[in-house]
Amino acid sequence: MATPPDIRHGQSLRDLNTFGIDAHAAFYLPVGGVDALRAVRAAPALFGLPRLVLGGGSNLLLQRDFDGLVLHMANRGTVVSGEDANSVFVTAQAGENWHGFVLWTLEHGLPGLENLSLIPGSVGASPIQNIGAYGSELAEHFHSLRAFDFSSGEVITLAKGDCAFGYRDSVFKHALRERAVILEVTFALPKRWQPNLRYAELAAEISVRGIAEPTAQDISDAVIAIRKRKLPDPAQLGNAGSFFKNPVVSSAKRDALLAQHPALVSYPQADGSYKLAAGWLIDQCGWKGKSLGPAGVHEKQALVLVNRGGASGADVLKLARQIIEDVRLRFDVVLEPEPVIV
Ligand SMILES: Cc1cc2nc3c(=O)[nH]c(=O)nc-3n(C[C@H](O)[C@H](O)[C@H](O)COP(=O)(O)OP(=O)(O)OC[C@H]3O[C@@H](n4cnc5c(N)ncnc54)[C@H](O)[C@@H]3O)c2cc1C
Repeated sequence: MATPPDIRHGQSLRDLNTFGIDAHAAFYLPVGGVDALRAVRAAPALFGLPRLVLGGGSNLLLQRDFDGLVLHMANRGTVVSGEDANSVFVTAQAGENWHGFVLWTLEHGLPGLENLSLIPGSVGASPIQNIGAYGSELAEHFHSLRAFDFSSGEVITLAKGDCAFGYRDSVFKHALRERAVILEVTFALPKRWQPNLRYAELAAEISVRGIAEPTAQDISDAVIAIRKRKLPDPAQLGNAGSFFKNPVVSSAKRDALLAQHPALVSYPQADGSYKLAAGWLIDQCGWKGKSLGPAGVHEKQALVLVNRGGASGADVLKLARQIIEDVRLRFDVVLEPEPVIV
């Protein structure tokens, strides 16, 4: 099979990552479907290159130019694909915009994903870190996905149990890393829907709006309003959302920290461990609103690192390393970056 004709060389990625980092890809291919991936696998000059699958570029930090092949997911389409006694199944192609997809489900009277409104990025990337927000995570309504496996050249179907979903984690960050390209994702949306107001800030927003029995659309509207208040819009200020995961510690460690820092923000987990609010730890180290060169920490949310203009990936990483070190020295807790660093 010949090299795909729409391969581009030296493509700028600046407008394709929400940090706005000015890096270039040696080879770049928009992927409209599985045929493009099969063609890459069949072209020896391309198959041997390092690969980066790109969706919306909203969970990515590009350290430097990418000396390989960027596969930019561009397949589109959303359909109701079936139902059973409890659920309606909806299948969306990987290149669909996530928030656009959530709105599509609501417009079609299919609630379930409303708490995950306005998360940037693509449908295809949503299982990678099991996106989550406002008391919900993708795994709750995930049914299955289809992916191209670069190792075998086959299209594989994975059910929920195959995906090893965890907190900002899945099999795609481990065994299937650099192997599977997600082509489409199917969700099981409940026929008997209940509002999910577990997240206190969301419940408060609904209450302030005077809504006693919220619809899924009310919840989506409230989530959108909170997110717009709290998070910088990447179109105005480059960022990748939360730059650090909330660290999970043992109850003994949490008790020791609480004794030293009575205002410590922590959340009990089902297994007896505690999740600490990384933003609080960073704020305590005095980083909120501060900058190191052209990279900075957002004024309203210490978990979000921002590109104040012309920052390179190395500038952002330098700031991230300094924050990790300060938090470690003060709390003996090691923060882990959430975005994929390439
Ligand atoms: C302002 C802001 C707020 C955010 N808020 C949240 C939040 O509340 N909760 C949350 O969980 N995340 C949040 N994020 C992070 C981000 O939106 C999600 O991680 C999103 O799923 C990333 O999608 P993407 O298409 O942009 O992925 P990319 O950044 O393009 O890619 C991320 C990773 O997924 C891989 N990938 C992408 N597509 C595919 C595919 N089809 N097949 C295989 N691998 C693929 C890439 O290779 C890369 O490793 C936020 C980001 C921003 C900028």
